[in-house]
Amino acid sequence: MKTKMRRTWLLAGLVLGSCQVELDNFFGKQNPGTYPNVDEALRPYFQRFEAEAAARGLTVDLADAYITGYISDIPENQVIGQCSYSSNDPHRVTIDKPFWNQASDLEREFVVFHELGHCYLARVHDESMDARGICLSIMRSGTGACRDVYNAASRSGLIQELFTEKD
Ligand SMILES: [Zn+2]
Repeated sequence: MKTKMRRTWLLAGLVLGSCQVELDNFFGKQNPGTYPNVDEALRPYFQRFEAEAAARGLTVDLADAYITGYISDIPENQVIGQCSYSSNDPHRVTIDKPFWNQASDLEREFVVFHELGHCYLARVHDESMDARGICLSIMRSGTGACRDVYNAASRSGLIQELFTEKD
């Protein structure tokens, strides 16, 4: 049986490529604390990602890492987020517009943090689950067997897991 969350939270994996590009020419000079080439609606969630890292003693600077972010229609059915790589946009987060428009604050946070998990932290999918079948990582694919529980009570532990270095 599929729940609405399961149906909604299918996420695309990394799209990989390789190339060289003059990043500074593309992005221009940057001001600290701003996010060039990130849609305004995404910026609070980018800031939150940096703040959650800082609260755990980690320094994350998404602008310095040339992470870009856009809200637009993702044509693939049921895919709500992507981290993609191309020669002139090396770490691009895309969030599906129809999803974004109906999502709650925590649902938006979840998908943005998942894609930054790929694009910034270079994490791959992790389908780990507990004995009840609940996903133990924000980096679950959405197509695996585990079930998402992302709420005010669970988010801190899941964000901790997100930033924990994997061997
Ligand atoms: Zn993913």
